[in-house]
Amino acid sequence: MKTYAQPADGLRDVLRLSSAMTSKMAMASVPLGGGKAVLAVPEIPQGQARRELMLRYGDLVESLHGTYVTACDMNTGPPDMDVIAERSSSVLGRTEANGGSGTSAPNTAVGVFHGIRAAVGHAFGSDDLDGRTVAVQGVGAVGDPLSRYLAEAGARLTLADVDDVRAKELAEELEAEAVPADRIAEVECDVFSPCATGGVLNADTIPSLRCRVIAGAANNQLGEPADAERLAERGILYAPDYVVNAGGVIHLVSYEMLHENDAQVAERLRGIGDTLGEVFARAEAEEISTGAAADEIVAERLSVAGRT
Ligand code: NAD
Repeated sequence: MKTYAQPADGLRDVLRLSSAMTSKMAMASVPLGGGKAVLAVPEIPQGQARRELMLRYGDLVESLHGTYVTACDMNTGPPDMDVIAERSSSVLGRTEANGGSGTSAPNTAVGVFHGIRAAVGHAFGSDDLDGRTVAVQGVGAVGDPLSRYLAEAGARLTLADVDDVRAKELAEELEAEAVPADRIAEVECDVFSPCATGGVLNADTIPSLRCRVIAGAANNQLGEPADAERLAERGILYAPDYVVNAGGVIHLVSYEMLHENDAQVAERLRGIGDTLGEVFARAEAEEISTGAAADEIVAERLSVAGRT
């Protein structure tokens, strides 16, 4: 749910996001994909107006007879999914009190953590994070727990958020450094972890990056596919976003559709690191960018799925 300058911007966003969902599901070996919803609103509604919008949206989802299953993302959370569930059974991520699996953000963070370890292992020859420097952009629902896991593993952190206070408080707690939000992408570090918004890796920002690895939670990190090439040319190992941030969908689908237990979910989350290893190996073997390698694997998996 988001405010867009023009309706066409919302349409463009939902098409990009639905494509990314398809890739994300294919890489997480989940037999779903193809859809995403954007609620383009003049302002983020609260109270009764929000409830009414969610009910109307629930009716729309239900009219698709289970071919589309909705879940939370930007500006929506488990309480909204509870309202949608009043009108449709095709909804994941309700509150635990209401029979759902609650927020997926902590498991997204676990998946990103495995992704960072795998990428560091590939770039530096050891996946030990002790003493590695990581810059985290955005310490919200995913960036906060991710920073805690990284600190626990011995990484030295630089944190930033447009909400300065949030970044400073977490930095103090984790004995990390906080920098202004507009400086985080230029911090010298081993790993840059975008965990805020999309489009942060583009022709303008890539020349000033000072990291060896990029691995973060944000969706659609590249401004355009060619940015994967730009990163490769600069010798920066890019862990494709839709591989690294699949922990959220893994959480929802594993618990609520496949009825798996904590150990099975943890195993799937660890698998994110293995999948990244496959992407890096292919990129090296074929001398292509990691973004192109991941896209190739998705295309192969979808073509097999299409035949079966
Ligand atoms: P969130 O809204 O809880 O946190 C985002 C944080 O980033 C906020 O603290 C916000 O103040 C900050 N922020 C926004 N713009 C910023 C900027 N330009 N610079 C620095 N900080 C900025 O969202 P989240 O759930 O933590 O998700 C973060 C990203 O990960 C989003 O792109 C989201 O689509 C993606 N993602 C989330 C999940 C999930 O399970 N929550 C799953 C997959 C992908």
